Amino acid sequence: MMGTIKRIIRHLKMFMRSRSRKARQTPPFLVVFINSVCNLTCEHCFYWKNLNQRNDLEVEEFEKLSLELGNFEHLNLSGGEPFIHKQFAQIVQFFIDNNGVKEVYVPTNAYFTERTEKQLRQLLKANTPEQLSLFVCEISLDGTQAFHDEFRGNPKSFSKAMETYDMLAELQKEDSRLQIHCISTATDTNMKEIWDLTEFLYERCPAMDHHNLAIIRGDRKDPSLQGPSLNQYEDLYQHIAKVWKAKEEERYGSIVEPMLQWGKLKVISEEKQSISCTAGNMTGVVYANGDVSLCEIHEPIGNLRDNTFFEIWDSKKANMLRAEIEAKKCHCTTEVFLWPSIVYQPIELMRAFFGIRNKWKNQ
Ligand code: SF4
Repeated sequence: MMGTIKRIIRHLKMFMRSRSRKARQTPPFLVVFINSVCNLTCEHCFYWKNLNQRNDLEVEEFEKLSLELGNFEHLNLSGGEPFIHKQFAQIVQFFIDNNGVKEVYVPTNAYFTERTEKQLRQLLKANTPEQLSLFVCEISLDGTQAFHDEFRGNPKSFSKAMETYDMLAELQKEDSRLQIHCISTATDTNMKEIWDLTEFLYERCPAMDHHNLAIIRGDRKDPSLQGPSLNQYEDLYQHIAKVWKAKEEERYGSIVEPMLQWGKLKVISEEKQSISCTAGNMTGVVYANGDVSLCEIHEPIGNLRDNTFFEIWDSKKANMLRAEIEAKKCHCTTEVFLWPSIVYQPIELMRAFFGIRNKWKNQ
């Protein structure tokens, strides 16, 4: 009961927050690219031109950023491969200590089993459930073994990911704050692959809670890769939902999942910003080289090595871009920005709620 009341109060606060933006206000959802270093060469990577640079932020620069920012809720780490960073746990700890971050989400290629275990154990041990309530590892897989290995340019990438899953499943027995998800990026070449993968994972990985389906976005390494057709994507989403139904019923995020998929399909079919986007207010991005952006699609608006976060975040340039976003001059289906745009805007939430009822009422 107390948990539900807390959740409602939090939700109301976030509703208010989504409607107002003041100077020096920290976005409640922050995407931080912890490094640019990656061991794989994925065809769909939107960050591929910036990988393996030598100008990543130093540990002290992450600390400086966290000391400038106010409290925020969700830390979404990205990279590169985040677990390659030797000071992964130390950097996450800055955001827990200085910004009250309680929930951390990390997409990973899951290649580095030992490093991942070491960093996770350090974080889980150092923080009580009040300090860190949830740590989600999102294992990124594009298809079944042969397809995934070729797509990722490494013959061991799938088997290493399974090895890391097995480690995570053991660790989860010791600490239930750890959740294991899979994330697959749909393109026009891997729809059947993801269809088979989801069935495989459901059987092979019982400690996995969720299989998330995303759509290819941004400037990809292989420019011939396109998004799937709408019908194919919708069929695949329905298939995944059916396979994972029993587990999804126990998961809080499952209430939002159909709304998120509905929102994505709406944006694609209408080719416009069908859901008013809250990027630049509810969400922000800091790249590994210190660039700051309102979202992952628009160009950065400044760099932390030239200016402080709030000098950039509250700048004229940032506000001009916010005005363009508000005028709906852009659109995309990037989940991390779409999610708060639906969940924390009452009108969008109602539209999504009735949208899924009408669309999928017979399923
Ligand atoms: S709709 Fe997409 S491109 Fe436009 S601001 Fe939002 S996240 Fe960025």
